[in-house]
Amino acid sequence: MAKWVYRFGDGMAEGRADMRNLLGGKGANLAEMSSLGLPVPPGFSITTEVCTYYYAHDKGFPDDLKKQVDDGVAHIEKIVGMKFGDPNAPLLVSVRSGARVSMPGMMDTVLNLGLNDETAAGLAKQSGDERFAYDSYRRFIQMYGNVVLGVEHHHFEEILDLHKSDLGVSLDTDLTAENWKKVIAEYKAKVEEELGKPFPQDPRTQLWGAIGAVFASWNIPRAITYRKLNNIPEDWGTAVNVQAMVFGNMGNDCATGVAFTRNPSTGEKEFYGEYLVNAQGEDVVAGIRTPQHLTLAGKKANNSTLPAMEEVMPEVFSQLNDVRQQLETHYRDMQDIEFTVQKGKLYMLQTRNGKRTAQAALKIAVDLCNEGLIDKKTAVARIDPASLDQLLHPTLDPKAKREVIARGLPASPGAASGKVVFTADDAEDRAAKGDKVILVRVETSPEDIHGMHAAVGILTTRGGMTSHAAVVARGMGRPCVSGAGELRIDGKAKVMIVKGHKIQEGDLITIDGGTGEVMAGAVPTIEPQLSGDFATLMGWADEARKLKIRTNAETPLDARTARKFGAEGIGLCRTEHMFFDGDRIVAMREMIMAEDVEGRKKALAKILPMQRQDFVELFEIMKGLPVTIRLLDPPLHEFLPHSAEEMAEVAAAAGVPVDAVAARAAALHESNPMLGHRGCRLGITYPEIYEMQARAIFEALAHVKQTSGDTAEAEIMIPLVGIPKELTLMKAIIDRVAAEVEAESKVKLPYSVGTMIELPRAALLAGEIAKDAAFFSFGTNDLTQTTFGLSRDDAARFIQAYERQGILARDPFITLDADGVGELVKLAAERGRKTRPDIKLGICGEHGGDPASIHFCAQQGLNYVSCSPYRVPIAKLAAAQAALTSSGDGRKGEG
Ligand code: PEP
Ligand code: MG
Repeated sequence: MAKWVYRFGDGMAEGRADMRNLLGGKGANLAEMSSLGLPVPPGFSITTEVCTYYYAHDKGFPDDLKKQVDDGVAHIEKIVGMKFGDPNAPLLVSVRSGARVSMPGMMDTVLNLGLNDETAAGLAKQSGDERFAYDSYRRFIQMYGNVVLGVEHHHFEEILDLHKSDLGVSLDTDLTAENWKKVIAEYKAKVEEELGKPFPQDPRTQLWGAIGAVFASWNIPRAITYRKLNNIPEDWGTAVNVQAMVFGNMGNDCATGVAFTRNPSTGEKEFYGEYLVNAQGEDVVAGIRTPQHLTLAGKKANNSTLPAMEEVMPEVFSQLNDVRQQLETHYRDMQDIEFTVQKGKLYMLQTRNGKRTAQAALKIAVDLCNEGLIDKKTAVARIDPASLDQLLHPTLDPKAKREVIARGLPASPGAASGKVVFTADDAEDRAAKGDKVILVRVETSPEDIHGMHAAVGILTTRGGMTSHAAVVARGMGRPCVSGAGELRIDGKAKVMIVKGHKIQEGDLITIDGGTGEVMAGAVPTIEPQLSGDFATLMGWADEARKLKIRTNAETPLDARTARKFGAEGIGLCRTEHMFFDGDRIVAMREMIMAEDVEGRKKALAKILPMQRQDFVELFEIMKGLPVTIRLLDPPLHEFLPHSAEEMAEVAAAAGVPVDAVAARAAALHESNPMLGHRGCRLGITYPEIYEMQARAIFEALAHVKQTSGDTAEAEIMIPLVGIPKELTLMKAIIDRVAAEVEAESKVKLPYSVGTMIELPRAALLAGEIAKDAAFFSFGTNDLTQTTFGLSRDDAARFIQAYERQGILARDPFITLDADGVGELVKLAAERGRKTRPDIKLGICGEHGGDPASIHFCAQQGLNYVSCSPYRVPIAKLAAAQAALTSSGDGRKGEG
């Protein structure tokens, strides 16, 4: 016979905490608490398998369920010494849902089940409180009538309101037992009128009705929506928990409350919770009465004048405090508990692992480890890497009011408020005057860099998670919301319009780059607190992880920030990003626009010293560590001058007529720049560019080595290789320049040459390419773009439709597509290693900062991942977790 029902109570239980798949979270933990000998009202759980059966059999139940439920009821009756339907000692039960994971408030609950005309009178006699008994009965009819029988709520409300106005009272508490009896009669008449049959008086009929209703509520719209939002599978189903009622509203020796065993916002080891005397559970959450603090400390900290439970019921409080200790020691984690006190006796109604802020999660994990309850590995495993973002950037004050006017992608975390500006120059001007500004653009380009630097936040209406704005903002640690498509920008008029709001230049807005929200006005933020716990946990993560963590950085500021967070080198220095500032962009344009080698060499000569100086600083900062420098790789359009002003600037610098510049810009225009004249194709056509860059790198290396005796190790990386010979030719240039600089400086240069794998052809030919490559770095932004044939700059506009329809589980530009792109990574790694067993493998696409993608990289045995500076701690933690889950696939545990 199948076992459908698991009983608990009186120090015994047939279930256990680890049976949550079968019993639901609530049922499993009630069983566990009962086995621990805690005061749990007796009851039973009907398994999630019955839910599955119910839906598979046209809302029917297995034949042998009835007997098991009857046994369950008998079990409760025996323990509490009361009987279902017995007027002298009526047993009342609650019937509640309980899925594997908590779905708060999403499914239905019925309380006080077992009341009818006779048992209500019995309850009045037994409790000595007639008002309480009839109030309970009318609550039951209302709840059961609505949830199980489908009588709309307003019918009951109307009857009650009419009574109150007839009596001239406004509060439910003003009604007497006699008043309630009249309300009950009308409720019952209403139910009969609506359904054509009377309100069920038989407790067992009531029970089966309620069980069916809870199973049915698994599929009500709000529960379905909640599951979709939280990735909860449809087929999990819910369990049903039937449990003896206990009452917190039988007088002043009764109470009900909720508590956390530690403070869920700070993680402090303090008992944290609220209670109400003479109240039912809903009253605490409903906000009708002001809940009181459990502890004297809590009362004091909140300047409350209402008495604490510690004062009012010292004995029960001390018992509750013992339960708190016992539960924490048992579950080895912070618990979220619900309790009721009935006539001075404590009952535990629920326990579960408590939700907490990122800061609290860190503190609790570190403290529990120091208390000897968990080991370091468990502590490391408990922290959600992505949640660290909350700690590394300013965040919105959770208490602050906010008016969300638009939403985009959470492109770079952190929150910022500032005055709206629409151009990079305006950003710089206003910032120079001391204003905080948010730069709002349709999309950003390299020319906006100075404005992005000057701004405290960046908002774009177009572009995805790997758009220029997103990548650059993350690198700079600036909050960014990208692709907020509802916003309309009128650049000329300097206004943006959204949902009837007209926002002008200089108006205040707030963006939250962690959620993608755009808000009107300034919303207060709070600064990150990198406490000692953060450092401690990071230390434990470092002990566990195998992957090295590098950073994507071009500027000394980024490089320093990343080192502060513990980066172990630079995995990607995008050299073109070094040319966005000030005069450099002009020299760069001059070079790109030059008609011939001579013109290019002239411009390159201007660039060389600047480039050399950049590298000197990076090599000094990254002393002893590897620095991967990628030679020029811009889609050309990023550097072409657009405005007349820009053209004039380039013309003046190059000493040619403006017309010539305009003609050249038109000639260089490409219809598909991302697949155009970029990457090593530039080096093939204009070798002097790579030659200059190689010289700048080597002269910088020699200089740093000569002046400080130590330097970083240069890894020179050729982008967008798809044909092995491209690499062979570029490597020959680099090796030649290295030999020249070694001869000139008499310094042995620590360098190697490698390539990016960012085209499918490169992955396929990795064995051949590895002959010339000391390392591969997977450029998974382009590899995703080229494998899917999906533009990284345009995908954001429609990718959500793919996610909604379940065509893609997630945006492949955020989380590496293990099935497709990942196959290419795997294959390239294999083929590369076959040619060159010691080939160094890393990843430098945006995926290098994404926890699920990091798990994938760990599985493939890559040597390192490289991510933006502010993601370094996240990557470290994710890498540690990957190392700790030996079976590997990081995506499994994610819900
Ligand atoms: C990539 O393509 O993954 C990469 C890191 O290069 P970029 O984003 O600069 O094209
Ligand atoms: Mg690329």
